[in-house]
Amino acid sequence: MERIKCLIVGGGPAGYTAAIYASRADISPVVYEGVQPGGQLTTTTDIENYPGFENGISGQQLVDTMRAQAVRLGAEIRTGAITKADLSERPFKLVIDGEKEGRGRDPHHRYWCDSKVPRT
Ligand SMILES: Cc1cc2nc3c(=O)[nH]c(=O)nc-3n(C[C@H](O)[C@H](O)[C@H](O)COP(=O)(O)OP(=O)(O)OC[C@H]3O[C@@H](n4cnc5c(N)ncnc54)[C@H](O)[C@@H]3O)c2cc1C
Repeated sequence: MERIKCLIVGGGPAGYTAAIYASRADISPVVYEGVQPGGQLTTTTDIENYPGFENGISGQQLVDTMRAQAVRLGAEIRTGAITKADLSERPFKLVIDGEKEGRGRDPHHRYWCDSKVPRT
């Protein structure tokens, strides 16, 4: 059982944004990206409504940049999806499946965590 201070569920724009804020607050977040790293924007081409990109940017490029920014600031990004969450008492208990690199012998890795940012 691993204890994580801040676990963010989802590696889309919301998850990466939360990771950027949590990293800057020195909370050392761990992001689980689930089955779609980068989220929905990976399925589209040009994003024209995101400020700061005068000529637009591809969805994949935009989420890659968000991810890189989160990592640069200290977020740890992991592969895996949350399959169970018990938020009834602290520390919260979560079960994560599908990590590429196993953490211990248990195929369903269990975590305790003090805070959790749910996916939007
Ligand atoms: C084709 C298309 C074109 C679009 N074009 C635009 C556009 O031009 N401009 C614009 O502003 N918006 C656009 N959008 C909308 C935009 O993609 C979404 O608003 C945005 O992706 C939402 O971000 P999110 O992080 O909340 O969720 P998502 O992008 O849906 O990300 C969800 C994340 O959560 C993860 N996840 C889910 N369940 C679990 C679990 N159990 N455990 C761990 N992780 C989990 C997923 O793997 C994923 O990484 C478009 C969407 C689509 C589909």
